[in-house]
Amino acid sequence: MKQKALLSVDQALARIVSGVGSVVGEERLALAECFNRVLAQDISALRTQPPFRASAMDGYAVRSRDLNDLPRTFKVIGESAAGRSYDGSIATGEAVRIFTGAPVPDDADTVVIQEDTTALGDTVSIDRFFPDKRHIRDAGIDFSEGQTLLSSGMQLDARRLALAAAMGADIVTVRRKPRVAILATGDELVQPGSPCRPDQIFSSNTYSLKGIVENAGGEAIDLGVAGDSYEALAEAFAKARALKVDMLITMGGVSVGDHDLVQPALIREGMTLDFWKVAVRPGKPLMFGRLEDMLLFGLPGNPVSAFITGILFAVPAIRALLGARDAGQLPLETCRLGADLDANGDRQDNLRAVLGLDAEGHLIATPLAMQDSSLLSALALSNALIVRKPHAIAAKAGEPCDIIRLSRYL
Ligand code: AMP
Ligand code: MG
Repeated sequence: MKQKALLSVDQALARIVSGVGSVVGEERLALAECFNRVLAQDISALRTQPPFRASAMDGYAVRSRDLNDLPRTFKVIGESAAGRSYDGSIATGEAVRIFTGAPVPDDADTVVIQEDTTALGDTVSIDRFFPDKRHIRDAGIDFSEGQTLLSSGMQLDARRLALAAAMGADIVTVRRKPRVAILATGDELVQPGSPCRPDQIFSSNTYSLKGIVENAGGEAIDLGVAGDSYEALAEAFAKARALKVDMLITMGGVSVGDHDLVQPALIREGMTLDFWKVAVRPGKPLMFGRLEDMLLFGLPGNPVSAFITGILFAVPAIRALLGARDAGQLPLETCRLGADLDANGDRQDNLRAVLGLDAEGHLIATPLAMQDSSLLSALALSNALIVRKPHAIAAKAGEPCDIIRLSRYL
């Protein structure tokens, strides 16, 4: 199929997001099952947190008006521990032993930390008191009952999951995980652990793509390796169709060489091709299409190209399936260049780089010397991509540059 001009990255992203069409369905899950899942409902707090005035330290709860003339000995009339409150009242000259997280008795307005006291059997001497340090967390300083802190579309990372738990969420409605089949193609590929002839290599892309897909909130289904033949490809495509996946990602065989059969093989199956050339480096041969309900990505085979096109194009498709409204936007941030760069060519370049600080403490991104798209060791060393627009002019160290942090794609 003919596609004359290269699509820009933004054009390709717009076509991917509109090509995704509808969002996946919902399911109800126990919160414990929800790590990395995308909410399909808002979550409001079932109770106020903390629900009571809580001690922030271990010490003694007292009335501050008893602390004018120190040191002074107090009678210890009880104990308030986390989960075991003291329910009585406190009179002049009395203190309640208290621990972090415990409810502060109603009559007390101060917790004197134990370091500023001397325990003497059932009395305690309070030696010092700092009026600006009461060590009490008021009820509701974190959130109040009914407050909506998590909303539909948010991904439940570790922090948000903890917040949902603190709010009392139990069963929540989340998006179904998009099911994404991953297929390595190439006669030279074997899975790690299998015998590998001298002219073969291990399929590494299977692993990077699986990680990318799962991190984005999808379910990765490994279809293994298909050889460079129409029969092997057709068999793998049939498997993907039988599994009713939302998306099939192939890696390799998508260029124009004699053994690059992925595109013609998918056309034989009935694929509607959207595009297959994007102005991006690495990764120019990059195919996007649809086969009935299944989205199709043909990513290039070189390991760095597969990873970068995976995060630039397949991740937005997964996020769009999950209902993210910003799926079509590159997650760019700005920092300073750590080295001079030559003028860029006609494709968006994505240089593997390491983030650090310059002498004044500014964040800088320094491109690695080795930028070949086969070098997984360099990719594993880097923690950012320096993103250069097509035809960007030469730039000097210290000038601003756009980056994508790779920590987004653990
Ligand atoms: P291709 O896109 O099929 O021409 O492959 C380009 C390069 O990437 C070749 O050197 C392949 O051996 C390599 N390659 C393709 N698929 C994989 C894979 N799954 N894992 C590691 N390397 C691969
Ligand atoms: Mg190949």
